[in-house]
Amino acid sequence: MEYYSSSAFVLKKEPIKESDRRYVFFTKDFGKISLLAQGARKIKAKLSSHLEPPVLSQIEFVVGNTSRLLGALEEEPYLEIKKDEATLAAALEILALTDEMTIENQDDKALWKLIFDVLFFMEKNGRKYNELTDFSKFYFNARLLTLMGYKPFLGECSECHKKTENGFFNFRNKSFFCKNHAKTNDFLIKTEQKRILEFFFEAPLNFFSQPSLVKKIMEEREFLKQFLKSFTLSVKSDILYFKNS
Ligand SMILES: [Zn+2]
Repeated sequence: MEYYSSSAFVLKKEPIKESDRRYVFFTKDFGKISLLAQGARKIKAKLSSHLEPPVLSQIEFVVGNTSRLLGALEEEPYLEIKKDEATLAAALEILALTDEMTIENQDDKALWKLIFDVLFFMEKNGRKYNELTDFSKFYFNARLLTLMGYKPFLGECSECHKKTENGFFNFRNKSFFCKNHAKTNDFLIKTEQKRILEFFFEAPLNFFSQPSLVKKIMEEREFLKQFLKSFTLSVKSDILYFKNS
């Protein structure tokens, strides 16, 4: 048996049997891990209050046949995020997406920093203006895909390699086409939207400290929502394919 500790975000918790609970964490030092908390309901007051997502906690655990959680101490409870229903829902979506798109025991400091930065941004800015919640969620989604190696390439048509302003995206093969090479159901991306996407997938969060910039980007809310949803689904099906083959 080996003992460890790490800073960790709680991604998910689920009850097991009568009094146990399984927690899925994204840790600073070990990436995603899954730990059993035995008798979690009995020691509820001691442990659970430090593990209510979104939360950053210092956890202690033991790795063996059954990896177990031994202790947790809250470092950042994100009280501002928890005050607002929509902000809380967005933060939980970010954690759920992290869980869906990652596999266990893969150390990933860049992803750790992304979760940390986006939650900090949401906590600090709260509901200062309406666009902030969806912006945070979309930004996290885009940057997560970039970190996974799935930044969309929108520079030129994949077929004829000509630079094109308005273009069309095919989600199945994740490629961009000019109007001559696009297929019927490909997704229209206008020049201005293309610029936003290129910026969005690449820029660090501190580029977006001006509310006016966030508001401007979020004028394309429906476009961003549709693009990210379809692109993420396509990446997810790739991951499933690799897992099963
Ligand atoms: Zn072309």
